[in-house]
Amino acid sequence: MILPSSMVDGRPATLGVLGGGQLGRMFVHAAQALGYETVVLDPDRASPAGRIAHHFIQADYRDANALRELAARAHAITTEFENVPAEALAELARTRAVAPPATCVAIAQDRIREKAHFARCAAASGVAPAPHAVIESEADLAAVPGALLPGILKSARLGYDGKGQARVATRAELAAAWRQMGGVACVLEQLLPLALECSVIVARGADGSVVSLPVQRNLHRGGILAVTEVFEQNLPTALVQQAQAATKNIVNELGYVGVLCVEYFVLQDGRLVVNEMAPRPHNSGHYTVDACDLSQFDLQVRTLAGLPLPAPRQHSAAIMLNLLGELWFDAAGAPRQPPWAPVLALPGARLHLYGKAQARPGRKMGHLTVIGPDAASVRQQALRAAALLGIEAW
Ligand code: ATP
Ligand code: MG
Repeated sequence: MILPSSMVDGRPATLGVLGGGQLGRMFVHAAQALGYETVVLDPDRASPAGRIAHHFIQADYRDANALRELAARAHAITTEFENVPAEALAELARTRAVAPPATCVAIAQDRIREKAHFARCAAASGVAPAPHAVIESEADLAAVPGALLPGILKSARLGYDGKGQARVATRAELAAAWRQMGGVACVLEQLLPLALECSVIVARGADGSVVSLPVQRNLHRGGILAVTEVFEQNLPTALVQQAQAATKNIVNELGYVGVLCVEYFVLQDGRLVVNEMAPRPHNSGHYTVDACDLSQFDLQVRTLAGLPLPAPRQHSAAIMLNLLGELWFDAAGAPRQPPWAPVLALPGARLHLYGKAQARPGRKMGHLTVIGPDAASVRQQALRAAALLGIEAW
């Protein structure tokens, strides 16, 4: 256990993060609130987390000297970036406590291994991944069952926010899309009739204890998360229980340590399907900072430092709106500042900006969480905020 504000080897207890994006920034906030020193490694000089950590190492994730420096400064190290090289985590783990384990991150980074893990877990949980086929060769392409079309071709590695994906209706389109992706390892998934999407975040300690956050209901637009809603009666109770049980099973079977998010589809016939997992806190869990007594970042700090993991409690209904770069441009395409003053005047509105200097369409610049006593009041204020900001109502 690395206790907050203790001295370890003659230095203040220090937690490190590989990756300096907004997730790392919020981890640093949570660690600093407990009195830890923090260190961030990221290639970008102006990374959101690097700008606020006690120590910043600007380097590539594979830079051996930089990894040594990170291990020298930090007593335990986590990551916030899905595609962090698993070898870098394995290297750090030789001398330091590292969570999540490199082996688990490597599974989450590869859709083929990830789906195989979900399929194994389905026997116990009854929650299976979408029907799919692995495509690694021309022979695999020819052998794809017709029932998977129309489908979505997804590269096995390095996809996020809908990147590395193509919707295909016919075999000819599938073949063209696979070649367009350079013939890399892919998964073809059947296109499913979605009723809605949701996600579950769990934290698992090194002692095997697991706690779960509520089930988040998510709306995506253009492959990017737009809105997350979390309140009582948000989803049918049976579905909530099934999703939380399936997520606990997935994290236990991985032998995972840290915070993990699993994304699900709910089909029009009510069935739950497991989509993918992120071996880190997740955009759909940002509301926990304002609406729960322990946020997903608090849980990340606790699992990393080996601190107790009491069950988190949501104390307010919440709706989170992602603030994407397009809000920083007016209708004519000229740069603007979003109208913060009227948004901040709304009761329960909590603004989080990540300190990114440059806005680009689709870039996650910040988020707004609206909290309140019940779903109706939160919805009312969130819709007002959306109208002020120019976010389409849902
Ligand atoms: P993330 O940013 O969450 O990592 P990603 O790029 O890894 O996204 P997915 O989560 O696999 O991609 O897919 C993005 C979105 O595309 C999903 O949230 C869902 O809306 C839609 N989608 C993905 N797979 C399917 C499917 N099999 N059937 C129907 N819709 C799908
Ligand atoms: Mg996804």
